[in-house]
Amino acid sequence: MPLTERVFSGIGVSHGIAIAPAYIVELERPQVPESKIAPEEVPAEQKRFESAVARVRAELEELKTKLEDKPETAAEEVTLLLDAHLAMISGSRLVRGAVKKIADENINAEWALDRVMHELADQFRALHDNYIATRIDDVQAVGYRILRALLNLPYLSLDNVPPGGIVLAREISPADTALIDPRRIAGIATIHGGAAGHTAVVARSLDLPAVLGLDPAMLDNTAHAHTVIVDGIEGKLIVNPTGETRKKYEQRLTALHKDREALKSIAALPATLTGGQEIMLRANLELPREVDAIKASGAKGIGLFRTEFMFMNRSTLPSEDEQFEATSAIVKQMQGESVTFRTLDIGGDKLAQSVGEYLAEAANPALGLRAIRLSLKEPHLLKTQFRAVLRAAVFGPVRILLPMVTTAHEVEVARRMLNECHAELKREGKQVPNTLPPLGTMIEIPAAALSADSLAAVSDFFALGTNDLVQYTVAIDRGNDQVASLYNPLNPAVLRLMEFSIEAGKRAKIPVSICGEMGADPKYTPLLLGLGIREFSVGYASLPRIKQRIRTLSLEKAEEHARHVMNQYDPARIIAVVNQFRP
Ligand code: PEP
Ligand code: MG
Repeated sequence: MPLTERVFSGIGVSHGIAIAPAYIVELERPQVPESKIAPEEVPAEQKRFESAVARVRAELEELKTKLEDKPETAAEEVTLLLDAHLAMISGSRLVRGAVKKIADENINAEWALDRVMHELADQFRALHDNYIATRIDDVQAVGYRILRALLNLPYLSLDNVPPGGIVLAREISPADTALIDPRRIAGIATIHGGAAGHTAVVARSLDLPAVLGLDPAMLDNTAHAHTVIVDGIEGKLIVNPTGETRKKYEQRLTALHKDREALKSIAALPATLTGGQEIMLRANLELPREVDAIKASGAKGIGLFRTEFMFMNRSTLPSEDEQFEATSAIVKQMQGESVTFRTLDIGGDKLAQSVGEYLAEAANPALGLRAIRLSLKEPHLLKTQFRAVLRAAVFGPVRILLPMVTTAHEVEVARRMLNECHAELKREGKQVPNTLPPLGTMIEIPAAALSADSLAAVSDFFALGTNDLVQYTVAIDRGNDQVASLYNPLNPAVLRLMEFSIEAGKRAKIPVSICGEMGADPKYTPLLLGLGIREFSVGYASLPRIKQRIRTLSLEKAEEHARHVMNQYDPARIIAVVNQFRP
């Protein structure tokens, strides 16, 4: 029987399409550690196991609620499956068996669970019953979920994905995504994740076709090696496409390649408005491997160098020398174009094992110890970064940017530390530039936008971080697929905060750039220019499209458009006005 085509809608987060065999990462068997434990350690080990089971139960319940409003028969089937898995978790032979084995054999929870899984599978197979044989998969699926929970797996292993495959998973963290080699993996599709979350940001930086926030049923309707299409533009995952769909997408893919080739020629052209005014177009950098592509895109420097990658996928902190090596390599490669180095922004949805010891569990990590707050609480983190970047500044122009600033005091303390590091390095006879690099402030918290005047007085430049500014203004988690449709950069409150910050920057005569994802969508370019933005920093893959847009616009028209938008108060009307804009 031919396989039927299924189309799942999600959030398209990158401008690309991939057609390839699926590889379901969730089915992966995690590496199981095996160790003996002392008899007195048994109760604690059993407790650890039970708390992992509780977490998996919550996870399955959550998946079930996501299915509730889906009327499709497939959703019913998946609900049945999840119910079976939930039943298995509540005191089944698997769970009871593992608890008993920890005590009987004095072994760790992962090993005990793995052994019980094998024993059950052997018993089921011995019954030679087709129906019971299918239960082996369920035992395994539940067992692997518990194993992953026990292991607190920091990242999924993507090493076994066949070259050219598309990864389908429940969730891929920003750190996992950063490990993806886009030459090996054609695309990703996940159930969790929103358009402005860091996973989306990293996927875009890798130019990796990606759809997030998909219906959970997508995992249950797809098997390894099924052909799937990831449409990152329209936000679709198509499983088992018909010949006709496949042909249509192959044609779109060819058109996309042609479009990209055509856009390449724009790299050498200036980013000027029709009236001749030059707009500064820089690139955001997530990962060092992007530098070549950034240079080829025609970017005038790096407007946001997210330093988080240096801290991810490792268990110890990077030393000053390591950070100096990584930073100076990028500064040198940029050959005289400026590099805006942003100090560490860990916390919220961006986690890194190496700084884990400083971040306690928090009910609301997005409102917790994040970014500059962590850097000022643990000054050695900031000091090491400042020292590394000051040393790298010998090789080319550098600017320093502080993330998640709330008050002018934070900037003042950071500036004092920067001065101290500069003096200290000079005393040590290390090479540093004579003048300090400009120190800028990210405007990404409503409080910062509302006190932009006082921040402008202590900052050398502003960078609007709209990803967080939207999140904190409209109280919508930027990475949560359940509320993704409410994440609206065009909310009038967001626009007013932006306008207010831009005006404050103008009054203080400091440059104001935008480095959030809003700047990377050509639909918003006229509005941003009209509001007074003259500097953009966007992912290199979006840069040619933004430049193309800039080159078709006049400042007068952009300003008129912005005035029109700012006179509206209804978000739906603003969206319509923005979508209807014609240069
Ligand atoms: C932002 O918040 O818009 C931003 C650029 O910072 P990040 O996405 O790294 O939080
Ligand atoms: Mg931010």
